[in-house]
Amino acid sequence: MSKRVTWVSTLLFVALISVAPAYANTPLRVIASFSVLEELVKRIAGDAVSVNAIVPRGEDVHRWELTPPNVLALEETHIVFYNGLGLEPWIRHIEAMKRDQLTLVNVAERADYTPQMITTGQFQGEPNPHLWMDPEGAAAYIDVIASTLAEHLPDQADTFYKRAEEARHALQELSLAVKERLEGIPKTNRTLLTSEASFAYFARAFDFETESIWGVNSETQGSAEAMAAMSERIGSKRPPALFYESTAPCIHMDALARAHSLPLAGPLYVDSLSGEDGPAANYSAMLRHNAEVMHTALGGATAE
Ligand SMILES: [Zn+2]
Repeated sequence: MSKRVTWVSTLLFVALISVAPAYANTPLRVIASFSVLEELVKRIAGDAVSVNAIVPRGEDVHRWELTPPNVLALEETHIVFYNGLGLEPWIRHIEAMKRDQLTLVNVAERADYTPQMITTGQFQGEPNPHLWMDPEGAAAYIDVIASTLAEHLPDQADTFYKRAEEARHALQELSLAVKERLEGIPKTNRTLLTSEASFAYFARAFDFETESIWGVNSETQGSAEAMAAMSERIGSKRPPALFYESTAPCIHMDALARAHSLPLAGPLYVDSLSGEDGPAANYSAMLRHNAEVMHTALGGATAE
């Protein structure tokens, strides 16, 4: 039986058994679409609210398919925070099963932060969904998360807004620390060549150029035409290294690195945090880890 058929069967089953809301008189239950968003929500929600993610760490948020356990968990959920801007094509299945008591919040689409358009691949001209890769984008997410939680739990609104203020401050400090770490990389080396166009906002925030083979992971990856175009860009830019990401297949960048005799550095984390014991266990660690990888691969000056 295909995964999709299994999913549809589960959905029908859940619809049959869920005549009464299973969560009446229970604490607020929140689900975030992927681990980065989950961690940002947890910062504001604190321990009193149950927060989980749909996509497990290490999996690709773009290409996820809802599982039966996902569907069952959603049945007991009050709020689903998701990125939007096309990051989670599978969100349409949740919209299809939406109940009155379930609030869906497209965080990136509501965030007060200007999106950039994708410049390559089949989604060219559409907004790039990876706003969180700039700490200012993540701060805009925080505001949406805090106001949503405050609407649902008005008696805790002050606590949520206070945590949001603290989180914004922490993100500003993180941004300064990352900027400082990247400062030693010479201007001529400040090029991020990756599989997916997921570093557009990071590049804008920290003064890098960026190019990618494809726009977002949900499209065709590494077509002959896209590989040839990327190879040409690598040839003209002559960067010190190429990069691969933790949730995109690295075979394409590996092939390009071999063809151009360049080192392949990574993984960079963007669409998922690492496991709890890994180098990108939370948002701050993710950006710091990425900055370290870039610093090493692009010839950053060594600290005195
Ligand atoms: Zn992505």
